[in-house]
Amino acid sequence: MLKNIHQAIDQSYSEMVEIRRHLHQYPEVSFQEFKTAQYIADFYEELGIPYETNVGGNGVIATLTGGKPGKTVALRADFDGLPIQDEKEVPYKSKHDGVSHACGHDGHTATLLVLAKVMQAYQAQLPGTIVFLHQHAEELTPGGAKPILESGALDHVDAIFGTHLWAPLPVGVLQTAKGTFMAGADRFEIIIQGVGGHGAAPHETKDAIVIGAQLVTQLQQIVSRRLSPLKTAVVTVGVFEAGETFNVIADTAKLIGTARYLDVETQEQLIQEMDMIINGVCVSHDISYTFDYQKGYPPLVNHVKEAELVLEAGKAIDDIHTTEDALPVMGGEDFSYYTLAKPGAYFFTGAQPEGEEYPHHHPKFDIDERALPIAAKTLIQTYFNYQD
Ligand code: MN
Repeated sequence: MLKNIHQAIDQSYSEMVEIRRHLHQYPEVSFQEFKTAQYIADFYEELGIPYETNVGGNGVIATLTGGKPGKTVALRADFDGLPIQDEKEVPYKSKHDGVSHACGHDGHTATLLVLAKVMQAYQAQLPGTIVFLHQHAEELTPGGAKPILESGALDHVDAIFGTHLWAPLPVGVLQTAKGTFMAGADRFEIIIQGVGGHGAAPHETKDAIVIGAQLVTQLQQIVSRRLSPLKTAVVTVGVFEAGETFNVIADTAKLIGTARYLDVETQEQLIQEMDMIINGVCVSHDISYTFDYQKGYPPLVNHVKEAELVLEAGKAIDDIHTTEDALPVMGGEDFSYYTLAKPGAYFFTGAQPEGEEYPHHHPKFDIDERALPIAAKTLIQTYFNYQD
């Protein structure tokens, strides 16, 4: 049956591309994906596969109950776009100003929809139940995964799998990890309140730029000098705003950044170290500050057995020439909530476009669409592996 399913997926390639390109032209940002959710619901409506809408927000869940007994497995695809202008010159360029599918979630959605259509033809012979989980709002915390879980819609699910079309990896490469696969990702914002004044009279001021610069430098020493070298973390200050003009000493500075880590103990240490540094620097200059640390998605930790099933699936698929048990990446993903609640695994499907390649979230980001059927095959192969 699997050979036939793989063939049917290949035969549906043009439909996958068509759906992906349609969604690509009409992206919607996180928590506002109303039309995309409707598009997904309409697709299942037309197929006659039962579905639920408004799951934990804009989530859509369709259920294909097989004719043979077996386990219930959710396959997840996210469907939100990003507030990024599409700067590609392609016929399927975004028609929504300032919004684009710059992470490939359009491709995830097309993959899962067409897989559902293919699998419907095998419903009678199908062991177990496939839950097609279309998740909204992956790109923006608190995300869609958490409310979907909290809605109870996945309570009956035995395991969950998902993939990200991954532009840094060539088509034909599959990566996952038997354990931690993606990082926890938090956001922090520091505002320091100094005393401004004339650029020629620094002794009468508390220079927010000089103090802010010390903060930036010292924050870099958390990873290099305070954290165990055997731990992994990132502290990045991505925004430093201060000052108006050349001869005035700035009174305030705003620093915004992200912290990444692979386990919650490290996260706790990062918060503690940051707190001490910010407090120490500001006290020593006798100025006040605010430090706002927002916890984002937790690290994504795959279950070992389920990750092994993904690796086995990769080896069984002709179009995949390299299956790797890889090191984690420092990007974040709210799929992490699913694997905290259920057995499951997440994996990357190589989708590097030919020619110039741009990173995820870049205004010119694109994928090689030949990755879509490969993603579909790996998901369904993993589903069957889990049934055995
Ligand atoms: Mn993404």
